[in-house]
Amino acid sequence: MTAIILLGPPGAGKGTVAEVLAEKGYTHISTGALLREQIRLETPLGMDIKARMDQGRFVSDRVVVEMVREVLASAGGEKKFLFDGFPRTLAQAEIFDGILQSEGTSIDEVILLECADDAIIERLSGRRTCIKCGMVYHVKYNPASSAGVCDIDGCELIHRPDDNVETIRKRLDVYAERTAPLIAYYKAKGLILPVDASQSIDAVRSTVLEKLR
Ligand code: ADP
Ligand code: AMP
Repeated sequence: MTAIILLGPPGAGKGTVAEVLAEKGYTHISTGALLREQIRLETPLGMDIKARMDQGRFVSDRVVVEMVREVLASAGGEKKFLFDGFPRTLAQAEIFDGILQSEGTSIDEVILLECADDAIIERLSGRRTCIKCGMVYHVKYNPASSAGVCDIDGCELIHRPDDNVETIRKRLDVYAERTAPLIAYYKAKGLILPVDASQSIDAVRSTVLEKLR
């Protein structure tokens, strides 16, 4: 099994990079997307997830780790995985190492997308997300062919409730406090591949493909 992690602040472009890696045969696992699916299904768990997400807080490690375990267990013959937005805390990272170890494998690379806060605020304020397939667009940097409509499935594009400036700032604080320590954790294991994510979408995507080769 190959396991690659996309690490970086919210809005750095993890999902955008994941699109091109998916074309290279990686199965994209976004914990944010899995959690939003629970909200869409209106499960009891979904209510709690929504409350936390809308406030820019993390969902509990237990819930997220169980979700990842289930996806991996049902993945069958899949061999190449790309984790986007997971792990996000040191506890998740340690549990994840244990899960991979029990599969006789380990993390191959951690791609660190580095981007300044002001760019992130602009990116997330202009992000539009397909309500059905989750494809992301940007009103200025990556617009849909027809405003408000997904190019892939023709469904509605929304501005995520957590993509407002106040919640973005909260998410950046939570990232700095709880996720940024993962950089040192993976650096110590020699796994970090830093990428300047302030470049254009095409440039970031090609840099990542180049570094992975
Ligand atoms: P993440 O998955 O890290 O939260 P996304 O991939 O959803 O981030 O990107 C956040 C927003 O920024 C989206 O609207 C996306 O179209 C846009 N975006 C992503 N990468 C870039 C880039 N390199 N330059 C400009 N806008 C970008
Ligand atoms: P994302 O789609 O990656 O921007 O994630 C959206 C939101 O989902 C985050 O702000 C968190 O509330 C929640 N979330 C996603 N992944 C995780 C995770 N690994 N641990 C805790 N919460 C998460």
